[in-house]
Amino acid sequence: MTAEPSWHPLEGTMHAVAVEVLIHGPLPRSELARRLDLSPATLTRLTKPLLDMGLLVETDPQAPAGMGRPSLPLDIDPDSRHFVGIKLTSDEVHGVLTDLRARVVALEIAEIGDRSPDAVADRVAQVVERLASKGPGVTSVGVSAGGLVDDAASLKAAAYLGWDEPVPLAALIAERTGLPVVLANDVEAWAQAERWFGDGCNDDDFALLTTGVGVGYCVVTHGQTASGTDVGVGVAGHIPLDPLGPLCHEGHHGCAEAMLTSGGICSAVSVGLGRAVGYDEVLRLAHEGEPVATQVVLASARAYGRLLALIANLTFVPLIIVSGEGVDLAIEWESAVRAEFDAGRHPMASPVRLLIKRAPFTERARGAAVVAIQTHVLGR
Ligand SMILES: [Zn+2]
Repeated sequence: MTAEPSWHPLEGTMHAVAVEVLIHGPLPRSELARRLDLSPATLTRLTKPLLDMGLLVETDPQAPAGMGRPSLPLDIDPDSRHFVGIKLTSDEVHGVLTDLRARVVALEIAEIGDRSPDAVADRVAQVVERLASKGPGVTSVGVSAGGLVDDAASLKAAAYLGWDEPVPLAALIAERTGLPVVLANDVEAWAQAERWFGDGCNDDDFALLTTGVGVGYCVVTHGQTASGTDVGVGVAGHIPLDPLGPLCHEGHHGCAEAMLTSGGICSAVSVGLGRAVGYDEVLRLAHEGEPVATQVVLASARAYGRLLALIANLTFVPLIIVSGEGVDLAIEWESAVRAEFDAGRHPMASPVRLLIKRAPFTERARGAAVVAIQTHVLGR
């Protein structure tokens, strides 16, 4: 497995041209010039090196015959480069192989036994190798994980892996694969995937809220993720949402973690029923009208609405994407979520699109691949 030679880093506006075509192509030159406010001559000058290095290609003319000399729309060749995205959990490595437009072409999952940094890096390298064997060559690798990520290279606060000290994970994996490796926080990587190739690709401003074992939150402003280290801390988890709600492990009444995570919801129902119940059973019981589960689930749906209104009120985003392993509750009880959201908004506030959607777990690994694609295309 060898890295493809990296091409000369693009500069300034050339980045914007490459990214615009990657996300929205094929695009006629006239449309591309209009979108980026460039003269035809400048656009020609900027696209030539991109065409020479094979990132951009000219596609079939779209103008009907007899309409004069057609302009050749610009596009990228998605098969020209491939990327591996890896999502680490406490016990598994999820990997995808994608093309340049982040379309998944192969999947791999491997269990993590030994959680020492070297053993985890070995396991990731095996998954990369297996994925690489299914494609024509891998350009680079993106790795996403919960926790604090420093300089796209080292992972801190990954208690779920038992790592107390910062681990230079990108370097450990690069040593084993011989490929460039970039590391990202998992929620931030997911937001990047939505921004470039997902439901946020036409919005410069949006927020992403994920629920499941924890509460993840990221906001994109002017097309950039507001990436402070706090993205990895999970600060949204302890926002108070219900003063009468159950306690979290930090002693907060009704914070997001107590109200929205699968653990918080299951423990509230388990206490009420006097027996341990799992997340799917809670949703089934609520669906059947069992009183304890119904009350807990309804309180959770309202807490979702409150948190979403808070996000909209303080960030002014026109779109909030809600997803994650725990999103089924918000989907099944969406009317309660929306009613509470509406109640928390100013009467004159602009409408906000709430996109509450399921996403396969591989979406996390795909997010990591998108970070690798971005690093490559932007020449970072
Ligand atoms: Zn809390």
